Amino acid sequence: MTVYHNYIGGEWRPSRDGAVYETRNPANPNEVIGAFPLSTRDDVLDAIAAARQAQKGWAAMPPAQRGEILLRAGLAIEARADDLARTLTREEGKTLREAAGEVKRAADIFKFFGGEGRRLGGEVLPSDRTGAFNLVRREPLGVAALITPWNFPIAIPAWKMAPALIAGNAVVLKPASLTPLIAIEIVRALIDAGLPAGVVNLVTGSGAVIGDELTTHPGVDAISFTGSYAVGHQLYQKAAARMARVQTEMGGKNPLVVLADADLDLAVQLAVVGGYGLTGQACTATSRVIVEAPLVEAFTARLRARAESLRLGDGLDPATEMGPTVSRSQLETDLEYIAIGQREGARLVTGGDVVEGLGGHFIRPALFVDVRPEMRIAQEEIFGPVIAIMAARDFDEALALANQVQYGLVASICTNNLKRAFQFAEQIEAGVVKINQPTTGLELHLPFGGFKHSSSGTFKEQGRTALDFYTRLKTIYVSYAP
Ligand code: NAP
Repeated sequence: MTVYHNYIGGEWRPSRDGAVYETRNPANPNEVIGAFPLSTRDDVLDAIAAARQAQKGWAAMPPAQRGEILLRAGLAIEARADDLARTLTREEGKTLREAAGEVKRAADIFKFFGGEGRRLGGEVLPSDRTGAFNLVRREPLGVAALITPWNFPIAIPAWKMAPALIAGNAVVLKPASLTPLIAIEIVRALIDAGLPAGVVNLVTGSGAVIGDELTTHPGVDAISFTGSYAVGHQLYQKAAARMARVQTEMGGKNPLVVLADADLDLAVQLAVVGGYGLTGQACTATSRVIVEAPLVEAFTARLRARAESLRLGDGLDPATEMGPTVSRSQLETDLEYIAIGQREGARLVTGGDVVEGLGGHFIRPALFVDVRPEMRIAQEEIFGPVIAIMAARDFDEALALANQVQYGLVASICTNNLKRAFQFAEQIEAGVVKINQPTTGLELHLPFGGFKHSSSGTFKEQGRTALDFYTRLKTIYVSYAP
């Protein structure tokens, strides 16, 4: 078994007390992926100190040079894309095709922000005085802590690290305990690209220990968190107590609205991709499909047939269409929600049972009908391949149902009616709206973030907008001919 280390101050180091924990392949739990440091608060203090020490030098490097390092990191990820996709599949369970897409996304993000090195600008504004002008300059914040979930274990660290670094910050990355290896691989790519020691530090282990230290330590200037609402809400309050800059991107309960005029094939395809793709383990997953009454029966029959035909298996097998859940505990959560749905009176049309004989944490894609908005399966994030179909009388009721949850991350509508599509886009309470596209899938140059309980709503991630979180503005008044 390979024993991996933290990366602190440019060195791979074991945790100070030497403790480790193991991770396993969710498709084949007998396979150990590796042993990783179960780090202590002292390890986090070392990482913060290393980041503080390196940050000023990094910020002093011309941004175009920082950009070249990010560009090389993107190319290093690209050069090892096949290996990295296999690592991701073994560690998290998603199919090789899904993993390859995510690895490519990570490479592209580094390349995109590499280019920002030559575009990081401020503003020049006129002055009320004669012989004067004003400048607005972007500055890095200092040290950013990045706390990330397991479900996009290379893309999310990449979409936080790249803007943080190009802006001149040093970072401490705390990856999810279930997926530390792919995070180590990104750090390796940055080292190969020539990143100076201390600019990126990685500490693995328990969120309750490391995450808490990063949130409360005064040496951390900003915390970017992606994960569950329960953890994000608590973290936000702790960070606010010391007035740190904080960003929390959290769960979703994303609707796909299917209007009566929709192309049925497309609607079913959007539900399959959005609801069962990535085993339903995406913050952007479709978990509710709100269908206008005349289409409910035909839509349900078609979706059921597709769900039953999906091929489950080890993501490394190219024929696999849906991989396992990430862990035994996530599988149990999914099963618990299947039971809750049935107890509350929803009708399970297909799936929702454990697949015996495959060995890993596999569950069949589940489809519920007769789901009412007050039911827990219509309100709470399950994070598994479970779709709840809700019938709506008309567009107004569909929109009301779509908005009747605490989350507001992504919402999609399937229709050929342009007026309805744009009314939906205007009135839906979601940070991202898709028209005739699945709720999952994002383009890296566009702002991303939720409304309501899906986000603290402070700053967006991704695209150039991401730089707002990682920088502060300084206003400079200049008189050259007073
Ligand atoms: P999670 O349990 O909230 O964990 C997220 C991260 O926080 C992990 O690194 C975790 O470490 C750490 N953590 C745990 N307790 C902490 C604490 N007390 N203080 C600071 N950090 C702590 O979420 P998850 O199960 O990994 O991910 C699934 C969730 O992420 C879902 O709700 C999903 O919707 C959401 N998500 C949102 C987005 C988005 O952009 N909106 C994207 C992807 C996922 P450990 O792993 O060591 O516990």
